[in-house]
Amino acid sequence: MAHAVLTASPNLLKKMKEYYASYSKPVPPAHSLFSAKKNGTTITAYNSGKVVFQGNAAEQEAALWSSEATVSEKAKKKPAPSASLPDGFASWSVVGSDEVGTGSYFGPLTVVAAYVDRSQMELVKELGVQDSKNLTDKQIIAIAKDLLTFLPYSLLNVSPEKYNKIQPTMSQGKMKAVLHNQAIGNVLDKISPHRPDAVLIDQFELPQTYYKHIRSEKQQVKENVYFATKGESHHLAVAAASILARYAFLKELESMSKQAGLLLPSGANAASDVAAAKLLKKGGMSLLSKYAKLHFANTDKAKKIARIKA
Ligand code: MN
Repeated sequence: MAHAVLTASPNLLKKMKEYYASYSKPVPPAHSLFSAKKNGTTITAYNSGKVVFQGNAAEQEAALWSSEATVSEKAKKKPAPSASLPDGFASWSVVGSDEVGTGSYFGPLTVVAAYVDRSQMELVKELGVQDSKNLTDKQIIAIAKDLLTFLPYSLLNVSPEKYNKIQPTMSQGKMKAVLHNQAIGNVLDKISPHRPDAVLIDQFELPQTYYKHIRSEKQQVKENVYFATKGESHHLAVAAASILARYAFLKELESMSKQAGLLLPSGANAASDVAAAKLLKKGGMSLLSKYAKLHFANTDKAKKIARIKA
């Protein structure tokens, strides 16, 4: 039977407990915090913060929370150690890749791969490229516009509509792997016959899982590929990819907001629920599915809000 395991913070555990309260409860195993059964998947949480999902849709169910939790492939497997990178890696010519939007209820899933040649490293640094989490949206937009003028990159956007079509049969992990591999392949094609020293993927799953996920892809990039969590701190190419992805995501969210006629917030929180409820009242699920990743817990919350206010 398929299973998936997450490690949740006390806050997230509380949130999950509330969410699963409305689902049927099997007898909770000894020492467990709570247990629930949703559409054939059994969810069991322990005091340690481990949450175990068992059943055919285990991976999909776990994906609801994966943006807020630490994911491990199997209960017994330790979390992925960040691949140790060779000495001097930061000054290599590297194709880096990162994604944005996996944890945001509204907006697309955006993956970008970008190439930073060692000859461009100083310029990229001077333009202000650094960890995008330390940059304001305004700074990100300004830096991205500069980068777009000279950096070889590939940007892949999965609209919520498309995401909702794929997601029931494809885990978010697999979706990301396929997109990273595609974006990296596109950049390699762009800079060909020049070859980078390496490829660095901002790690979101174990390398062996990543390779399993891209197994049936036509072009599989495997040569000199490294994985590192917090990849943006290990190479400017990942930091640049992250900035471009964030920029594209923000732009897309802005145009979706215009189209929807209301502000669609980034992230997945109470403001998302309220905006989703408004869309539900306006045009039902078919309207909401154009803008939101429906498998998030926000959908159920929005339905409740829409009902109360109906
Ligand atoms: Mn990332």
